[in-house]
Amino acid sequence: MGIRCPKCDFNNTSDSKYCKECGTQLPPLDEISVSHTKTLETPKEELTTGSVFAGRYQIIEELGKGGMGKVYKVHDTEIKEKVALKLLKPEIASDERIIERFRNEIRLARKIAHKNVGRMFDLGKEKGTYYITMEYVEGQDLRGLIRQSRKLTVGTAISIAKQVCEGLTEAHRLGVIHRDLKPSNIMIDKEGDARIMDFGIARSLRAKGITGAGVMIGTPEYMSPEQVEGKEVDQRSDVYSLGVILYEMVTGRVPFEGDTALTIAVKHKTEEPKSPREYNTQLSEDLSRVILRCMEKNKEKRYQSAGEVRSELTRIEKGIPTTEKVIPKRKPITSREITVTFGLKKLFIPALVVAVLVIAAVVIWQLLPKKEAPSLPAGKPSLAVMYFENRTDVRDLDKILVDMLTTNLSRIEGIEVVSSQRLFDILRQLGKQDIESIDKSVATQVATQAGVKTMLTGSIIKVGEKVRITSHLANVQTGAIIGSEQVEGDKIDEDVFAMVDDLTEKIRTHLGLVSEGIAQELKIADVTTDSLEAYKHYQKGLDSLMRFR
Ligand code: ADP
Ligand code: MG
Repeated sequence: MGIRCPKCDFNNTSDSKYCKECGTQLPPLDEISVSHTKTLETPKEELTTGSVFAGRYQIIEELGKGGMGKVYKVHDTEIKEKVALKLLKPEIASDERIIERFRNEIRLARKIAHKNVGRMFDLGKEKGTYYITMEYVEGQDLRGLIRQSRKLTVGTAISIAKQVCEGLTEAHRLGVIHRDLKPSNIMIDKEGDARIMDFGIARSLRAKGITGAGVMIGTPEYMSPEQVEGKEVDQRSDVYSLGVILYEMVTGRVPFEGDTALTIAVKHKTEEPKSPREYNTQLSEDLSRVILRCMEKNKEKRYQSAGEVRSELTRIEKGIPTTEKVIPKRKPITSREITVTFGLKKLFIPALVVAVLVIAAVVIWQLLPKKEAPSLPAGKPSLAVMYFENRTDVRDLDKILVDMLTTNLSRIEGIEVVSSQRLFDILRQLGKQDIESIDKSVATQVATQAGVKTMLTGSIIKVGEKVRITSHLANVQTGAIIGSEQVEGDKIDEDVFAMVDDLTEKIRTHLGLVSEGIAQELKIADVTTDSLEAYKHYQKGLDSLMRFR
């Protein structure tokens, strides 16, 4: 079979690179013989429905998008079956070391043959684009299921969790740890059977190249404390994630929420989860205890294997009357956005761990799939930190300040601070894409919509060598300034944290809140990082994420 010239239609011999008639460069034969659809170019990040990829996979539809790239339902024209194809983003695929790890991990993952584990097929490369093929599971992922039903009945939750335990047990037996167990990696098929997807993939991304010094990639909501710290993990880390998933299935919410990956990560490390019974009073003490034991911070105290969890769940399941229907108590729409004061007072987090977390947070956020905008909290938040005018030459200092103040203020008891994400979502709803374009009238509009009574704005200026931060607390409804504060520092890099703490304290006083010494005991640098440079990187990652959503 020859190659027809796309320009003059001359039929060239199959080894021709250029058209013998008109000299046009000819596409390689394999592309033409496969289909007449558009020629695929490198590197691909997206595939069009109907096109044939890698001479074999006909794209049926896009299934979703994750941190690594898009996933498609495709028709494998060779084996004549539907499979799932995951395209790896060029920035991931361009690192040979990551690809090497993918190879190794997929080799391992392919050994897991179990009804509760999605099969991995292959790692392939098509003109510089790497892709993974795997079993296509028709159904819904668990994230969608939870979102749809708010929370699952105990019966359903146990049934899913038990199957996950079975899949995990087999994987662990073969020495494969999942490392990114989360609801979107659990597919529920039409029969209600669960399959764990993406085994081994998270490990492949664990690389200096991507994440900095050995920092772990994962999804912060489901990450074990040891993972958060970038330590080595074993099967008990998957047990922890399973505990979080169980928690979410029966309560409709994850145990640790936060505005940033960093906040969530720190909570996994330091905060005790609330009993699931606080969110679902119908849960048995027994099940609640099992969930919390999976989530013990010290892995020695957890169930040591997925099999142990399964036995406990089987025992509990026996006690559920078949007729019992758990009437889900509606989750009060509380605050993803209202940051709760968390009891970090007594804790000491070494600066290094924090710095590592900051880097992890940036990377995690960048790799995280998009989330839906959080809904409005039922209890009205009372304060929104809106914007600071940056009149210094330190780039993004305004955003950093907003972020730090939001974090700091939300830790004070008695004050409800709306998250930056929520504000950004409202801003976007108002048709303003760019946070930089915000001015007082837009700020008032956003604050009104967020339901806050007061808003904070301000400016940062350089006065000679000194830096001055001025803030204004305003009544949103009347526009009246409730109070203005000023703090000054000598060197922005060194003093910014102390300045933020100072300012927080002053604002607190102005709001009439009794000082409980939280600001003194827990400075902003303790929960973030004491390096402005690191904070800037962290902030940048966060910012680009916000813009992406
Ligand atoms: P994540 O797991 O972080 O959501 P992925 O890129 O792994 O990101 O997958 C994106 C979405 O595509 C998943 O949430 C899931 O709904 C869907 N998906 C992934 N793999 C498969 C598969 N093998 N079969 C069917 N749907 C899948
Ligand atoms: Mg996945």
